[in-house]
Order: sequence, then structure tokens, then C-alpha cells
Amino acid sequence: MTHNSVLLIYTGGTIGMKEDPELQTLVPFDFSGIIDEVPELRKFALTIDSYTFNPLIDSSDVEPDMWRNLALLIKDKYDCYDGFVILHGTDTMAYSASALSFMLEGLAKPVIFTGSQLPIGRPRTDGKENLISSVEIATAKGPDGAPLVPEVCIFFNSKLFRGNRCTKVSSTAFDAFSSPNYPALANAGISIEYDTKHIGWTGKYEGNLKLHTALDTSVSIMKVHPGITENVARNCLLGEGIKACIIETYGSGNSISKKWFIDIVQEAVRKGRILLNVTQCLSGEVNMDIYATGRALKNAGVISGGDMTTESALGKLFILLGESSDTEEVKSLLPKNLRGEMSK
Ligand code: ASP
Repeated sequence: MTHNSVLLIYTGGTIGMKEDPELQTLVPFDFSGIIDEVPELRKFALTIDSYTFNPLIDSSDVEPDMWRNLALLIKDKYDCYDGFVILHGTDTMAYSASALSFMLEGLAKPVIFTGSQLPIGRPRTDGKENLISSVEIATAKGPDGAPLVPEVCIFFNSKLFRGNRCTKVSSTAFDAFSSPNYPALANAGISIEYDTKHIGWTGKYEGNLKLHTALDTSVSIMKVHPGITENVARNCLLGEGIKACIIETYGSGNSISKKWFIDIVQEAVRKGRILLNVTQCLSGEVNMDIYATGRALKNAGVISGGDMTTESALGKLFILLGESSDTEEVKSLLPKNLRGEMSK
């Protein structure tokens, strides 16, 4: 590696589309010609290679297999590039970035997810700015020559976020992502200002990149809501094949206190189901000691997800269940901060 280099990985999504004049519809463009689409990239003294997934997908169709392929590709090309930029649809970007953060242990190079709300070939596209800044961030080095952002991140609308702290908050605005419980790692204005204090969770690991590619997806998500029925709760917590359920609760971790609900929770815990409490609120955290309704869950054996996002909780459970069939071990690791995904 003589000078800075980046691998652009295109998985699909709006960013890589352009208008087909004949069909008069949006079609994916050939990513090997990315520099022709975004000639501004030539201004960087960089080697930019691209890799296109086949088939390209709308990210609504993303599966753990795609995450596995991404992780394996990064591992395979790890020594060839200074950083990686993953172009991905916005709909599930926060899920993919969260999952990758858990799959890539000991990451010492930037892996930057980005995408756009408007295709790169459209006037007013946000795709070009998102792509150009992501490339710059993926190859940014500190004074010691080490990568400035050795993390899985999302870059969107001038802000760089830790990937496993993000959630998509708008289906239309350019400001589509938020990281409610952790500050932006960088802001791109006239120059890119890095908040070095908050960067580098994964950089704390010593040693080589270690992949975790065994994922067990036997996880359900139940959003508590007024009028939820016993049948729905039973299916989510005790349905066949379910090993864990993420319970999205109200406020600081509160749920229904009715006897039928607590009975189901207790039965699920007794049967070895792992129940993880995350809040429906965009910011703040679960604290099951504040209200009696939260305390009832805690007493029944529900684990606090702290200020983890649902996206992050899902990725964490997939990996932990994939790596261990010992329920107690998974339960003991869940409240631990493994990749900077929680504040405590
Ligand atoms: N449905 C698209 C996707 O997530 C939306 C986008 O790319 O922004 O792939």
C-alpha cells in the first residue's frame, strides 16, 4: 500500500441509481464507473476500487447472509485498503451497521456506511456529498498515521455517527439518521471536525481483526402497546423456536402490570427465553427501578438493555446466540458494553 486507498462496496439502495432515459425509471448504475459519476473523487490522491454485490438489493431485503458476506469481504481485503465505504439502502442501514459492529471485533480501520435519500444521478442528490465525505473519512489519518475512525460508522447529511448508536428517523429528510444517546463522531463543514474523545471504541482492542459470523436469528421483537392481547404476547415471548425477545417498553422500561402479562413473562424466563428490555423512546434509557411496572419485569428476570437501540440489541443477540448455546452466558454478556453500543 503506497498511498491511501479505499474499497467502495455497493450493496444496493437509492444511492447507486440513475435515470434510464429509455425506461424513464431508476436503475442501478455500473459501479465500476463510479469515478465518472462522481468526478470529484478524482481530486483525492487515492486509489478507489469498487466491489458490487450481486444481486443488488433494496435494503428492505437485507439478510444476515449479506452481513456475513460483507464481514468476510472486509476481512479478506483488510490489508489492502486503508478503509471501507459501504453503500447501502437507508431503510435498514442502522441494522446492518449495528450487526457489522458486533461481527468485526478488533476493527482498527474505518468501515463507513452511507447512502442517500435521492439517487446520485438526480439533481439535488445528497448522495454525492455523503459519498465524497465518507471516502475522506475512510482514509483520514491521525498525526501518528493511524486511522482516525477505527469504527463501524454511518455518515449521513454531514454527520458521522457510531453505527450501533443510530436509527433512521426520517423517510424524506436528508437528515435521515440520528444517534440519540451518543454524540456525533465528526461534523463535515468547511473541514471535517472529528470529536476524537468519542471515537475509537473498537480501537481499544489489541491484536487482529476477529470475525464473528455465526448468527442465530431466533429472536422476536415485541412492541408493548395499549390493547396488546395475551395471544400476541404469548406468541412473541413463547412462540416456537424463539430463544430471545426484545421487549420495546414505554418510557424508562415500563410495561403492562396485569397478572396475565407478568405470568407470560415469568413462564418465558422459566423456559429459558432471554428477555431484553429496550425503550420505545428515541432517547434515554431503561431503568426498571423507577416504577413498579418496570420493577415487575426486573423481578421476573427481564434484562435491561440500557440505552441500546433496538437495531443494536438485535445484532447483539444474533451474535451472542450464534456463539453460545449457554443461556446464562448470553444473559451475562447482554448488559456488557461490547462495542460501544451502550453508555454504561
Ligand atoms: N428502500 C431503499 C433501501 O433501503 C431506500 C434507500 O435506499 O434509501 O434500499
